[in-house]
Amino acid sequence: MSQFNALLTHLEQQTGHSLQNHRLSSVGGGDINSAYKLQTANLTWFIKLNHAGLYDMFAAEAAGLQELAASASVRVPQLISVGQFGQHAYLVLEFIDLRPLHGASAGLFGEQLALLHRQKQAYFGWQRDNTIGSTPQHNPKYPDWLSFWQQQRLGKQLQFAAANGYGGNLQKQGGKLNAGLAALFRTYQPQASLLHGDLWGGNAGADQHGVPVMYDPACYYGDRETDLAMTELFGGFGPDFYAAYQAHWPLDAGYPARKTLYNLYHILNHLNLFGSSYLGQANNMIQRLLSELS
Ligand code: ADP
Repeated sequence: MSQFNALLTHLEQQTGHSLQNHRLSSVGGGDINSAYKLQTANLTWFIKLNHAGLYDMFAAEAAGLQELAASASVRVPQLISVGQFGQHAYLVLEFIDLRPLHGASAGLFGEQLALLHRQKQAYFGWQRDNTIGSTPQHNPKYPDWLSFWQQQRLGKQLQFAAANGYGGNLQKQGGKLNAGLAALFRTYQPQASLLHGDLWGGNAGADQHGVPVMYDPACYYGDRETDLAMTELFGGFGPDFYAAYQAHWPLDAGYPARKTLYNLYHILNHLNLFGSSYLGQANNMIQRLLSELS
């Protein structure tokens, strides 16, 4: 606790805010970090902590939140401070009283996400690398989407899987799929859209006024369908969200097959982070995609 108090003194110096007479409670729900709500008479902060070696992960999240905020499309928590102190890396954000996305809020989120995706870039990738979960996610700049996906997304997760001991069929079939992907992109060339990048149900909600909020991003510029695909993978968004998104920017033909491809990245990431219970699902997705190629 004395270390935590030293951290708070450091944060007072960094931000110029007094944290006297604060109340502190822990916040659950995250996969990776410990999180706290800190409240004084004048402010309420959301503080994420991890060990100092993970500073770069928080710096990337902070940069992502700033890039999303600059798009003026969907509300994101305001960045207060990010840094390293003693044994800790910290990320301090405005605390938002979050609740589930329903009805009109979900519809508004669909509309606002389409607006976010209208933010175009001249390349695929980003200004910096980040993480997906705690897995490194490399974002060098590419002129074409297919090569970016093959080399920096699917190819990388297959390499991580090989290093984690998942060889054999997964590598053989996965490699075959990656080499044949051009068949899914013959008539489809997406623009480079600003993406949240990790848009499962646990990373979006609404504030107390029903205004949609998203957080914990893994931003880069890529195919907007990757964000949409992930919303379907772990649920939580509902029909109003999809109807509003489609009304503002209809999805292109061929989305269902690409959806499986884009979600394969996250299932492989789960295999790499959480273990072999995801192996069967990954293999099934690869088989389904291979049958689309032939
Ligand atoms: P992790 O990086 O560990 O996965 P998250 O950023 O997803 O952590 O946050 C964990 C939980 O804390 C979220 O599921 C959400 O409920 C809550 N949360 C996230 N950001 C805020 C915020 N700015 N204000 C209040 N609660 C938040």
